[in-house]
Amino acid sequence: KATFSTAALPAPNTNPEILYTGIFIDNEWHKSSSGKTFKTLNPTTGEAIAEIQEGDKADIDSAVKAAKQAFRLGSPWRRIDASGRGVLLNRLADLMERDRVYLASLETLDNGKPYAASYGFDVPASAQVLRYYAGWADKNHGKTIPIDGQFLSFTRHEPVGVCGQIIPWNFPILMAAWKLGPALATGNVVILKPAEQTPLTALYIAHLAKEAGFPPGVINIVPGYGQAGAALVQHNEVDKVAFTGSTEVGKLIQQGAGLSNLKRVTLELGGKSPNIIFSDSDLDYAVEQAHFGLFFNMGQCCCAGSRTFVEDNIYDEFVERSAARAKNRKVGNPFDTSVEHGPQIDDEQMGKILGLIDTGKKQGAKLVAGGSRHGDKGYFVQPTVFADVQDNMAIASQEIFGPVQQILRFKKLDELIERANKTDYGIRAGTVWVNCYNVLAPQVPFGGFKLSGHGRELGEYGMQAYTEVKSVIMKIPQKNS
Ligand code: NAD
Repeated sequence: KATFSTAALPAPNTNPEILYTGIFIDNEWHKSSSGKTFKTLNPTTGEAIAEIQEGDKADIDSAVKAAKQAFRLGSPWRRIDASGRGVLLNRLADLMERDRVYLASLETLDNGKPYAASYGFDVPASAQVLRYYAGWADKNHGKTIPIDGQFLSFTRHEPVGVCGQIIPWNFPILMAAWKLGPALATGNVVILKPAEQTPLTALYIAHLAKEAGFPPGVINIVPGYGQAGAALVQHNEVDKVAFTGSTEVGKLIQQGAGLSNLKRVTLELGGKSPNIIFSDSDLDYAVEQAHFGLFFNMGQCCCAGSRTFVEDNIYDEFVERSAARAKNRKVGNPFDTSVEHGPQIDDEQMGKILGLIDTGKKQGAKLVAGGSRHGDKGYFVQPTVFADVQDNMAIASQEIFGPVQQILRFKKLDELIERANKTDYGIRAGTVWVNCYNVLAPQVPFGGFKLSGHGRELGEYGMQAYTEVKSVIMKIPQKNS
């Protein structure tokens, strides 16, 4: 089934204590300068969990000041050995694993994802990414170049500087790790803004980073709404912004960078990925992989396989089995370790998804499983499957970001490639999975073509966005080969 094991699952902490709700700057906790707070909700019940300090422009300014100070020439962070940055990242990974039950429980409380996933996947996958980049810290080096003339030339991979990192709510810990790992391994300083729906785990990670020994100002975490993100984007002393979220906001970020200081931008945006099933496949395996490829994380994945193309002669059988599998998907309290499927993140997302399901019905797609809200508390949507979906229907072209599987029929390969590619997003695509789905690994770059964004995260390529190449050319008396 899923790519994570639930074999040795310790009991969750269903009522994790909320320890940190402030703004983390210079390794200290602060109240918001405006005095404002906002509520983070439990998506399983819709009830408030805690009041969080609401950062805005003034707090972003303070964070940038702290980050710049930490990045000044001669600072402890600038003088540390590259290998020492790796040691700190490894320590942070160790601390996340030490507190795995707590962190996974906090993630499930704030985000609604099943504890089996947050414990089995999100926390360990995040630690793995930090360790991967810890290893790179002293290995990402330049070259010496055989320049013409009496010169010695070499390159250095220098940190970009002050990095703004704006992350979404679908994988709060993992997105923090994807952002922090490469930025810190390469010597940058960071201001991370978690999504307003899910600030709690990032704030706990801030606490762990201090315990790990990162110097003050190297990692700053400012919870808040989009305006805090926008303040980072518009700031003239922020050198780079890394963003994961909607294509709509991604466009604003690229504009903001252009209107301010031409800061570097990497964007990890939406998708409408095709998942193609040929008739010679092992049907049981293909149905399960397509189900996992769409319903994992309640469909809230930018790479969700949201257009399942199935070859004509197995189509009916595939639809029948997929509908049965979706009806069997266990929906409920995400702290119940047998539950596969929790709530959507909030009321707004639930409403958007239910609206698109209605559009699907109206435009003539055939509903074969689900189709409604699950229960009347929290933000649950039934695992939903549509058959007879046509390419021009809204559910086949718009990103739903929810548990709604579209199954489309194809007959010929040529026609299929054109149809699969006919999207504003991939499939001239950043990732192709063959005989598998959702296989993410720290070693392998991840990112998109077209409106899915630009730049890559993870792997060796993931570090390019966090370094500038400096060419050094020295006059020498005489060269020798
Ligand atoms: P969003 O893009 O609005 O939010 C993502 C992050 O950007 C959050 O931290 C948010 O506070 C911040 N933000 C919002 N406005 C900003 C601005 N003007 N400047 C800077 N930062 C800003 O996403 P959302 O509203 O939470 O979700 C809407 C849709 O986005 C979803 O339905 C889905 O299609 C997509 N989405 C994609 C991903 C992904 O992994 N690629 C994740 C979450 C959402």
